Amino acid sequence: MRSWVATQPLLHCKHNPEDYFPYQIRSRLKELEKTFESLGRLYSEHSSKDGSKRLLVQLSDLQLVETVLLPRDGVCVSSQVGCAVGCAFCMTGRGGLKRQLGSAEIVAQVVLAKRLQKIRKVVFMGMGEPSHNLNQVLEAIELLGTEGAIAHKQLVFSTVGDRRVFERLPLGRVKPALALSLHTTRAELRAKLLPRASQIDPGELVELGEHYAQATTYPIQYQWTLIEGLNDSEEEIDGIVKLLKHKRAILNLIPYNTVEGLDFQRPSWTRAAAMARTLHQRGILTKLRRSAGQDVDGGCGQLRVRATQPEHPTPNKR
Ligand code: SF4
Repeated sequence: MRSWVATQPLLHCKHNPEDYFPYQIRSRLKELEKTFESLGRLYSEHSSKDGSKRLLVQLSDLQLVETVLLPRDGVCVSSQVGCAVGCAFCMTGRGGLKRQLGSAEIVAQVVLAKRLQKIRKVVFMGMGEPSHNLNQVLEAIELLGTEGAIAHKQLVFSTVGDRRVFERLPLGRVKPALALSLHTTRAELRAKLLPRASQIDPGELVELGEHYAQATTYPIQYQWTLIEGLNDSEEEIDGIVKLLKHKRAILNLIPYNTVEGLDFQRPSWTRAAAMARTLHQRGILTKLRRSAGQDVDGGCGQLRVRATQPEHPTPNKR
């Protein structure tokens, strides 16, 4: 796989492979490319008004995962088919874990994305929990940060938090940036929202993140899916200030993308903006973000759920 990643820029540029590769590789290039392309084929694509594009990618066993092309040269990749964490507000979590992705299948999503747009940033925020597939995700990160020549800071490992992540990430040759899904500062609410995440107290999670931030000098991105009436209270604002003030932290407030059949509501943009403003005034670097592709059934796992049901849209077969 390493040589495949290295060959990608050459295979898709104007130079002739004959100028670069020894005969043994040249004679098998077509066959190699065919094998690797079968790891992740474009099944369908769905453009969004915000400039993102959601791709359904079909793996060699016909399972589907979502990959999102992001504006400003980014891609969001999946690390599992399904997910075992079972977040109460997430469609992917509803179906449980189907299977792990291999590192080659993760990298294949980036290669596919590179054929469609320039890629300078890879975020591991698609379907699945990267800490539950740690060896494969770290192998993919190492490849992308070395042979793939993506800046280490532009590789973003996103997790609900697991002690193994804090042990393994600092040891890697490529140290990615880290995004921690916090969602609430209240341990009991977090246990309900993320029922099968490692039960680490939010305070301890932030301390573990802070150690990694100091070691790498990159700030930690704390993800906060903002749900009306659930985690948008004054009490939560106080809790955030207590946990994150004077830390190397960026808080990303992401208003919840309402999912049909799930009993959670998206707060108004005005309300979310007011919360961001208050947090700013109280010394927390806060960004109010839209989740990519909201107008194309693009909540976590929604596209895949639609595609695996009978009324799914006609795929753009390639
Ligand atoms: S939000 Fe992420 S971690 Fe939670 S169930 Fe969905 S995919 Fe898994």
